[in-house]
Amino acid sequence: MTTDPRTVITTALAAAERPCITSSFQAECVVLTHLLRQVRPDVPVLFLDTFHHFPQTLAYRDEISAAWGLNLITLQAQSPSVGLWQAESTEACCRRHKVEPLFSALAGYDVWFTALRRDQSASRANLQEVEPFTLPGGTTITRVAPLAAWTARDVWAYATQHDIPLLPLYEAGYTSIGCEPCTTVPFDPENPRSGRWQGEKLECGIHIQAK
Ligand code: SF4
Repeated sequence: MTTDPRTVITTALAAAERPCITSSFQAECVVLTHLLRQVRPDVPVLFLDTFHHFPQTLAYRDEISAAWGLNLITLQAQSPSVGLWQAESTEACCRRHKVEPLFSALAGYDVWFTALRRDQSASRANLQEVEPFTLPGGTTITRVAPLAAWTARDVWAYATQHDIPLLPLYEAGYTSIGCEPCTTVPFDPENPRSGRWQGEKLECGIHIQAK
């Protein structure tokens, strides 16, 4: 059973003391931020600056943040290492630049909104709208995915309906946009995330909780 995203948002916010949303400024993130801000305009928007983003992503982040007056919080690795994906591995690079800074920051919040959707990949097919998420160290927070049941078409329809400009990289054929070295246009038209990591992996690790 699925619930309207607005209901998921208001219910989760009512129970939250320190909510936040993570955003990579892809279409679904910006749409969810738009929905969330209607209820909580000052919600912290956590952005992972991996040091490997497309310049277009950073410019778009700044444009939307300024236009919407976002409470933007930029997270960075304690010891960034540009090119670690090549020098060592994408696992090490994602761990250093994404997983560690994000999980460290999330420990300061109790409700984490994310724009994950079930149809994005097989790894997300069983996503729940609301579920506990355990961080390294044992702290458990609540991860909320109000758009879990939405399709890409739903996201784009919402953006069009609300005149939300989207990241210009979509116009170049990208369907899932992360760091520049690890993002290409999809090689499988049926799998929008197939352009990530040259198809070697599906997830960077920020949605995989501690055992
Ligand atoms: S997506 Fe690529 S460049 Fe970005 S943190 Fe992961 S391995 Fe590094």
